[in-house]
Amino acid sequence: MFAAEWQFVTAAPTTEFLPPMQGVEVALVGRSNVGKSSLVNALTGRTHLARTSVTPGRTQELIFFRAQPEFMLVDMPGYGFAKAPKDKVDAWVRTIRAYLRGRVNLARVFVLIDGRHGIKAVDEEILDLLDKAAVSYAIVLTKSDQVKTTEFAARLKETQEKIRRRPAAYPEIFPTSSETGKGLPELRAAIARLLAE
Ligand code: GDP
Repeated sequence: MFAAEWQFVTAAPTTEFLPPMQGVEVALVGRSNVGKSSLVNALTGRTHLARTSVTPGRTQELIFFRAQPEFMLVDMPGYGFAKAPKDKVDAWVRTIRAYLRGRVNLARVFVLIDGRHGIKAVDEEILDLLDKAAVSYAIVLTKSDQVKTTEFAARLKETQEKIRRRPAAYPEIFPTSSETGKGLPELRAAIARLLAE
């Protein structure tokens, strides 16, 4: 599936522009600069498939890619810009909430967390949204190559503890690096399993 030809489907600034629900959908979300574009590119083996984070906060669309008629990958807009105006943040939350609530074919949301920093307050907010919408999610710890092994292990443990306190039933945690490729086969396999379900 990941070797397939990827097609850009659409960029939806609000829920009115969402493409029709078709097949299984998997979405990636994370704080800006967490490494989401790099991960999309690493997973699909294509550069520049995901938006590049040139101007933080400017791209607020949900971007849809299709690999097969029955599989859609969704690059959700980044969050957590310290300087983002409140109305922008509110609009983001409204769009995301509406998307999460209405998308019955959304099989899993992968929440990207910076492996150097762990779960921060802004990440807790998206996890709250996901818990409230009862959407199934998993955690992807990014940039594992950027910290010492012991430090990364500490972030992983801390993440497990924070996640355990949430209502979602045992979300999986994937340690990854788009730079070295660590964890990418496991992540691809997890996505492939969703398609097979
Ligand atoms: P986005 O804003 O979440 O889409 O983040 P990007 O994918 O644009 O990544 C932000 C920065 O982190 C860029 O400079 C990337 O090159 C870098 N980066 C992303 N993933 C990794 C990784 O796994 N390892 C390392 N060393 N750098 C990474």
